[in-house]
This record gives sequence, C-alpha cells and structure tokens, in this order.
Amino acid sequence: MRLLPGDSVAVISGVGPRTAAALAAAGVRTVADLLWYLPRRWEDRVTPAPLREVREGGEPVTVWGTLIDLRLKRVRPRLSIVEAAISDGDTALGVVWFNQPYLASSLKVGQRLWLHGPVRPGRLLGLQLQSPEWEAHTDDREALHHGRIVPIYRRLGSLNGRRLRALVMRVLRDLEGTAPDPLAGEAPPGGAAPGLLDALAETHFPPAMADPGERRELLRLLHARLTPAQRRLAQYEFAGLAVALQRARQARLSQRAERCVVTEEIRQRARAALPFRLTGAQKRALKAIVADLQRSVPMGRLLHGDVGSGKTVVAALAALVVAGSGAQVAVLAPTELLAQQHHGTFTRLLASAGLEPALLIGAMADADKQAVRQGLARGSILIVVGTHALVQESVSFARLGLVVIDEQHRFGVAQRQRLVGKGRAPHLLVMSATPIPRSLALSLYGDLEVSVLDELPPGRRAVRTVVREGTARGKVMEFVAREVRRGAQAYWVFPFIEEAEDVPVRAVASHAREVRRGLPGVSVGVLHGRLPAGERERVMAAFASGQLAVLCATTIIEVGVDVPRATVMVIENAERFGLAQLHQLRGRVGRGRHASYCVLLLGDACTPQARERLVHFATLQDGFAVAEEDFRLRGPGEFTGLRQWGRPDFKLADLCIHRGELEFACQLARRWMEEGTLEDKARLLGGLVAGDVGPA
Ligand code: ADP
Ligand code: MG
Repeated sequence: MRLLPGDSVAVISGVGPRTAAALAAAGVRTVADLLWYLPRRWEDRVTPAPLREVREGGEPVTVWGTLIDLRLKRVRPRLSIVEAAISDGDTALGVVWFNQPYLASSLKVGQRLWLHGPVRPGRLLGLQLQSPEWEAHTDDREALHHGRIVPIYRRLGSLNGRRLRALVMRVLRDLEGTAPDPLAGEAPPGGAAPGLLDALAETHFPPAMADPGERRELLRLLHARLTPAQRRLAQYEFAGLAVALQRARQARLSQRAERCVVTEEIRQRARAALPFRLTGAQKRALKAIVADLQRSVPMGRLLHGDVGSGKTVVAALAALVVAGSGAQVAVLAPTELLAQQHHGTFTRLLASAGLEPALLIGAMADADKQAVRQGLARGSILIVVGTHALVQESVSFARLGLVVIDEQHRFGVAQRQRLVGKGRAPHLLVMSATPIPRSLALSLYGDLEVSVLDELPPGRRAVRTVVREGTARGKVMEFVAREVRRGAQAYWVFPFIEEAEDVPVRAVASHAREVRRGLPGVSVGVLHGRLPAGERERVMAAFASGQLAVLCATTIIEVGVDVPRATVMVIENAERFGLAQLHQLRGRVGRGRHASYCVLLLGDACTPQARERLVHFATLQDGFAVAEEDFRLRGPGEFTGLRQWGRPDFKLADLCIHRGELEFACQLARRWMEEGTLEDKARLLGGLVAGDVGPA
C-alpha cells in the first residue's frame, strides 16, 4: 500500500479505528499531519556503552546484552517488581521495572536486548538500570528505538513516543515518493533543496555518522533547528504563509475601487488643516497614499512607524482626500480611549475643511449610536471614528471609500475584512507601531504595500530611561514632585489592577494611595479597565486637560494615548513587561518639546538577568532596535500577526531562527504570482503544510 500525504491516517497499515480516532482528536488527520508532528528532541543512542563502563547518575545510558536473569516479585498488592540482569559477556548489570509484571512473560532469559534508561544504586548488588526502555536486539532487523539517533516525541493523545516512532517509521517506509512537490528545484542561493518528504524523514530519523564528535554537533544543530533538512522544512512552512499573503494581495488587485479626485481646493484645505510642517517621512507616506487613492485598484497600505512618529495626522489627511471626493471614511481604533482621542484629533484637524467626524463606541447612549448608524447608512456622515462597534452588523455605509485601522496588530484579519466588506472594494490603510524587525514586517504584511515613518517630528528629545530598585521609590516620588511643580505631568504605571495573593507585584488600586500620600498637594487620578466607561473618560479628559498632574494607570494607556505635556513615566515591576511593551509605554512621553524621563522600578522578585535586560533597554531609543532585542530574547511569540492569517503556529519554522528562509519563501511566492503559477502552488502546498494558504 503506497501512501500519499493527503491520505487519512486510518489507511496507515497497523492503525485501527481506535488509534485513528485518538490521532484525529489530537488534530492529526492526514499522513502529512503525522509527518509534521516533529520530535521535541533527539537522543544519541547509536553506540551501546560497555557494561563495565556504566556509572551511576545523570544521563540515561544505552546498553545491550543478553538477559541472564528474570523474575517477578509482588511486593505489595499495588507494587510489583520485575528484577532482571543482563550480561555483555564481560560484565553483568541489574535491571528493574516497577509495575510492569507482563514483562516477566514477554521477555525470555537468553534473549538479546537493547536497553536505555537511568542507572541508580541497586537494592542489593551494585548498579541497576531503572525502568529502561527496551527492545529486542536481532541481527535480521534494524532496531527502531536504539542504535540510532532516536526522536523523542511529546505524547499525542493516547499515543506514547514508542508508538509514534513506529507509526512515523511505517509511514516513511510506505510513502509514495513521487507526490508533486511545489518547491522542487527551488533552493535559496547556496542551499540544498531536498524534497519535502526527504526533509521530513531526515528530521524524524536523522542519519547518524560514526564519529561521536560529529554526532554531538548534529544533535546541537537539530536542537537549534538548523540542520539543512530543518531549514528546508521552514521554507515549506513559510511558503504556505507567503502564498496566503500573495493570494490576498491578488484578490485585492483584481477589484475595482472608487478613484478619488484630488482638486486644488482639497490640497489647500489640507495645507490649512496642518498645525505643523510634516516630516519628510510623513510627506513621502502621504504622497504614496494619495497616489494610491487616485487609482482604480483598492489601496492596501501599511503605515508603519515607531510610537510618536505621527501616523494619525497622515491618516487624517487621507480621510480629508477621500471625504473631499464625497466618499466615506471609517477609522477603527482598538480601545475606546484611543477612539475618543482620534476623534478629537480628526475633529481639530478637519474642522477648517468643514468636516465633522462622528464617534461610534460602545459606551455611547443607544440613541446617539442609532443616530450615527443612520447617518452612515444615509451618507450624511462622511467620517466616523470608532471601536469594534463599527464592525457590527448593524453598521452599514452608503459609500465607504476608505478604511483606516490603527494598531493593526490588535485586530484579527477577520475583523479587518468585515469592515472592508461594508464597502465595495474600499481603500485600506492600516497603521502599526508594533516595532517588529523590518524584514519581518515586510513579510508579515506581505499583502500590503508599506510606508515607513522613520523620522520623528522635530524637536523631540530622547526619553532619558533609568532603572531603579524598588527601595528608591521615595527618591522617585521626590523627582516626580519636582517635575510636577515645574508644570510637567506624569504617568505611573502598574502591572495589575488589584493585588493577587500569590503574585508579589504592585497593583494600581492599592498603590495609587501610596503615590497620593507621597505627593501631597498633587492631584492624582486613577485609570484602569474595570472603571465604568464614563469614569474612564472623565479621568482621561482631566489628565489631558492638565487638571490631573499624575495618572496612576494600568497598561490601558499603552497604545496611542497622546498627552504632549506628560513628560515623566514611572513603571512599577518593570521586569514583568516585555521590551516592546515597555517601548510602547515609554512612547507616551517624549511627545512634547521638553526633556522626558522614564523610570523603570524593579520589583523585589526581579532576577539579575531581568535587571540586565532592562538596563540594556534603557540604552535603546529606536523601536526597531528594541524589537530586534526583544525578538532575540523572547522569540516571536508576541507577534500574533501570523495567527490572524488563520494559520496555526508553525510546527518548526521560527521567525527568529529562520529569517533567511522567510525571505526566500516570500520571494518565491512573489515570483509565482508574476509567473501565474500561484494558484497551482497554493493547491499543492495546501495539502502539504498545516494551516490554510489563503482565500479560496
Ligand atoms: P503615532 O505615530 O504614535 O500614532 P501620533 O500620531 O500620536 O503618533 O503623533 C504623536 C505626536 O506628534 C502628536 O502630538 C502629534 O500632534 C505630533 N506630531 C505629528 N506630526 C508632527 C509634525 N510633523 N510636527 C510636529 N508634531 C507632530
Ligand atoms: Mg497612534
């Protein structure tokens, strides 16, 4: 029976209905799924150790020998021991298995065995192998669990590692080698290009070399996911992603959008709206956007720029152009706080152009929401700023021309599509400040054109960042008090709303009191997600207007909040935050012309490594540098952009380890698109790698 990757696991010989059901329950439905269930690690069990060299402790050992003794002891009703001994002709070694009485009958004295397990002092004589893995050692059959580099798997449903090894081996043996391979002949410069099935086989059961030193090096590479076979697997997985992105792009390019007409009047209004001169980067981005808006293909553009780089004003001017053409603009923000703030900014900027943006958020009175929905459906409202409330079914547009999504990473692609679907091929502008490494941004947002704001507005000064022990809190209070007396405002950020019993961190609810006591005569507000919406709004407005000098808050203020007079940011338990998140928080200050400070306070439980990480962060200002560092330290777990594409986590590919492979896959997908083979490749890849490869 020859197997194909797309076959159900039920057709693998030796897989009965029970096993098939167990596999399916664990998400393994096809032969390809099983092959992508990759080992968690590998063990070198190639060469058996001579028994006389076996020592107690540490690593399990691999040995072989002839069984010279075997007996079953029932010690207590619930405890049975199989005691055995093996000999390699020179030395004997004891073996015990606990509670596996059947071994007394399945093993036979005189039989030759492979054994692998830990060595402990025996009860009576010398050393003992304890509950080792075992396997008959015959001359006519290759061992599966010994005498090779052995894959160790995570349990899969009811299947243990031994069963899995046997299953995978069987599949690899029965596999049809001629399944069409979408990457056949495609290799990165200088790289090898084994077929997918060969790369999988080599990753499950790596061929072992004779030299132990070379094997150690191979194991190191395997565990680092850097063998040529593993790199190849990463290319396949990334090709699946890249194809999905290219197909989304192609789907967009095949639509017809409404072309905006940019008149001299609109240009004048735009110039009049601006309270400042645009930075060079803002000008470049705006030029690209306006050019896109005048085409009949819907724009799909990512505006990527570090915190404070001034994305909002670019979006507002784009809105002005579209509204000037008579089409509607929907601006989606991730939080109510941010929606309100954007609404304020858009209102101020666009008032001189005679535009009155509406707001739509959950916290509004029903009647007000209803009025906005009607205005949008009728077309009397041209610009609306809102939260998820905009995405709801009850919202429709008369003539939606542009969708703007701020902090794109906070939304799923599905939400973005739902809003886009409310118009006939509207233009799309997504904005993100998530500082991710540049190459990665290009790949993750591969369906979009990218404009980067790589220049901060003039007059900005670096935020001076310092790390302080918790014991210095008194000094920090004095510093904040001094800055406040000079007219500055401060954020004081806590990781939690309320104290938890077993987590030794400071919470905003209780410690705001401490801040108040430490700052007599200073007006201190409290802001967190559990306050009623109206209260949150009031507190934020009071801080924005300067009525409150200090704002004790959770990370609710992390994204987008813009109060230029706030120049001090204190972060409690800073060790609990990721660097990218700290950078976002720090981005709340340094927005005005005054010197700004960020104080990272350490909790009592902060480890020396965590402290070092923060001290290094303090020296970094550029978000991309922070991203690289965060990425290096923590891997790409944070970057959920992938999940948005309906793709489960990669089985092996790692955005951090396999960047070269990612670039290769993205180039490949672009070429396939140009050659017109994208759909074929998508169909082939769809059956070979996990996750969908884009819209059908
Ligand atoms: P982000 O890119 O983080 O969303 P914002 O759009 O909130 O940044 O802008 C940050 C601050 O910089 C705002 O107060 C905004 O008014 C100001 N700003 C934006 N562009 C300029 C500019 N060209 N010159 C001066 N200030 C600017
Ligand atoms: Mg912003």
